[in-house]
Amino acid sequence: LNPVEFRRQGHMVIDFLADYYENIEKYPVKSQVKPGYLFQSSPDCAPMYPEPIEAILKDVQKDIIPGITHWQSPNFFAYFASSANTASFLGEMLLNGFNVVGFNWASSPAATELEILVMEWLLKLLQLPQSFSTSSDHGGGVLLGTTCEAFVCTLLAAKEKTLDQIGREKTEKLAVYCSDQTHFSFQKSAKIVGIKPQNVRQVVTTRSTNFELSPESLDEMIKRDIEDGLIPIYLCATVGTTSTTAVDPLGTLCEVASKYNMWVHVDAAYAGSACICPEFRHFLDGVEGASSFSFNAHKWLLTNLACCCLWVKDKSSFTKPLSTTSELIANKTTESGKVVDYKDWQISLARRFQALKLWMVLRSYGTIALREYIRKHVKMAKDFEGLVNMDSRFEIMARRYFSMVCFRVSPYAISQHHDNDHEANEFNQMLLELVNATGRVYMTHSVVGGVYVIRFAVGATLTEDRHVKMAWELVQGQATSLLGTPTP
Ligand code: PLP
Repeated sequence: LNPVEFRRQGHMVIDFLADYYENIEKYPVKSQVKPGYLFQSSPDCAPMYPEPIEAILKDVQKDIIPGITHWQSPNFFAYFASSANTASFLGEMLLNGFNVVGFNWASSPAATELEILVMEWLLKLLQLPQSFSTSSDHGGGVLLGTTCEAFVCTLLAAKEKTLDQIGREKTEKLAVYCSDQTHFSFQKSAKIVGIKPQNVRQVVTTRSTNFELSPESLDEMIKRDIEDGLIPIYLCATVGTTSTTAVDPLGTLCEVASKYNMWVHVDAAYAGSACICPEFRHFLDGVEGASSFSFNAHKWLLTNLACCCLWVKDKSSFTKPLSTTSELIANKTTESGKVVDYKDWQISLARRFQALKLWMVLRSYGTIALREYIRKHVKMAKDFEGLVNMDSRFEIMARRYFSMVCFRVSPYAISQHHDNDHEANEFNQMLLELVNATGRVYMTHSVVGGVYVIRFAVGATLTEDRHVKMAWELVQGQATSLLGTPTP
């Protein structure tokens, strides 16, 4: 690494990205390329000799940017946003610059200690129970990549703990519980951990109860399953589900789970960030009964991908199946038992110095500005919801808690057959396709209770009121041309 060239090329890349952000609204939000587009313009083998940065950046502009869906565009309202900002970006630069591999304390003490510090800061911001704290006797926090990893590691802990007690031959009988609104990465994680697919038990939710996981239905399901010979080990409850941002009743769910000695994981991947605001903290009430809690700072806490924050109450059950050692990394500090070795808290051994970017975000913003940032997004979603409510052709399809609005054109506006959800589903799908095809915004959909809903998720760092207004006018305009009636 030549520091002079590093400085020169680094400045060029920063300039390139600054230009990108200045022009981001000029690009179609959703990439419009066709599958295989890149292979047509690219050589079919790697270059033999070095190419200059100027030529490479030119190709990024020409070939890569058209194939990018602009997640950082202020007009990105799809999925849940992956927020980015200067502080986190610079944090990423620092951690890439140092490029340490902090698998244990000795391999880079700052990486471990800053991670503990940042997780303690966040624990306090979220008012999580002291039993999750690294300074408690049994708990602790760790930074992982994604929620899927948090699921895999906690599922493994629950599985191994149970099998240690009842015997390995019972593996086939282990059952885990969630709702039909739980993120699909939970199914994937259960598969990885070796839970039989039919033993991933989903409680059905309904619109009349805001798509919440019902503790009574869960209890009934578990009782029946036990009669059928299954062994319940794990419940995944969600605060802010992906389809509608539903919030499961944590307190009562934990009570049910504790009757069966189950591990309860609370997944607040998206909505967890909102809970740093005192007015949203009540959504986490009951978390003290859970065994683990996670949220993705890369979704709504201004931290670049990927950064999932996980806390567990019983670190010994959590780390036991993940722990491993070798003479290659043996050292006196580990032997002293006085330090955390994060290699035992995750799937892989090597790990990035993730804490650095989160630390940069928390320091550069400060709590007050972070809360204001969340509130601004919630307010924009609320305004959008108000606009939807003012147009009688549309309806809100789920209670809005945070910065996401689920809506559709109602069957009443589409045809005489008022209750025809099938027709409404096709219509709303067509509407969303037309809206996205303009390239001016990007929204995605979900299907809940058999009904196709359009999700309007505010979360991009650059989004302002004018973008929300434009998005709504675009939806209204496209609906009008499809319906063939003027806006009321
Ligand atoms: N849980 C919820 C509620 C989500 O919304 C998502 C993603 O949107 C996930 C889990 C999956 O997160 P990850 O991609 O970090 O595994």
